[in-house]
Amino acid sequence: MRTPLIAGNWKMHKTVADTVKYVKELRLLVRDVTGVDIVIAPPFTALHAAAEASRNSHIGIAAQDLHWEREGAFTGEISAPMIVEAGAAYVIIGHSERRTLFGETDPSVNRKLAAAFGAGLTPIVCIGETLDQRERGDTFGVLDRQITQGLDGITSEQVVQLVIAYEPVWAIGTGRNATAAQAEDAHGHIRKRLQNWFGADGAERCRVIYGGSVKPENIGELAGQPDVDGALVGGASLDVKGFVEIVSRSRGAAV
Ligand code: PEP
Repeated sequence: MRTPLIAGNWKMHKTVADTVKYVKELRLLVRDVTGVDIVIAPPFTALHAAAEASRNSHIGIAAQDLHWEREGAFTGEISAPMIVEAGAAYVIIGHSERRTLFGETDPSVNRKLAAAFGAGLTPIVCIGETLDQRERGDTFGVLDRQITQGLDGITSEQVVQLVIAYEPVWAIGTGRNATAAQAEDAHGHIRKRLQNWFGADGAERCRVIYGGSVKPENIGELAGQPDVDGALVGGASLDVKGFVEIVSRSRGAAV
């Protein structure tokens, strides 16, 4: 039985002060919520403040990216041990904005994944097709390539710790979410591939969450699908009450 996970990706939003205010409110609002893992991903500058403000709660903190080296001459980059020291337990890797705007590739995703596991972080690896790739009938081909190259070298023990976020690029920030059937179709495919490559146990235990215009109105149906284990939420996670609505309406949550 997989515990659903709802993660809020704030992208380049919120100052330290905004973050502390949000986390204080969030921890009160989700105090009695069980059966779902709750994670927020603030910008790097607010990671430590978020971790401090969420101390002794069941809110997890994620970084939005990392560099694969521990340290070195990589101006502007942040390493896995730095993220751990800041108090985060999760890291998002290969978000489509990183791929499209900053040249992230499947091989770089793979190096980052190894660094995350090496530091004891739980990776949330994002995969998903563009609209053009979907319309060409290449959705599963793209997912297969991203999984094969991105997860290359990871073990069946590690896949159990991994979170995969299926995020169709055409659904991110557009207000147009995948239908529950489209999401289940892709998640079912991903799980089948995980089964081929990592065996039945790893595939059964790896969480595959959906991302792309998730909001309180659509989370119930999406998270109600058998292979959808929660959501990565962008825009709708910025408002704490809306985010809590999404958490409460996700499969498995009990208030
Ligand atoms: C995201 O940034 O991962 C995302 C899914 O964004 P949104 O929910 O705004 O579509």
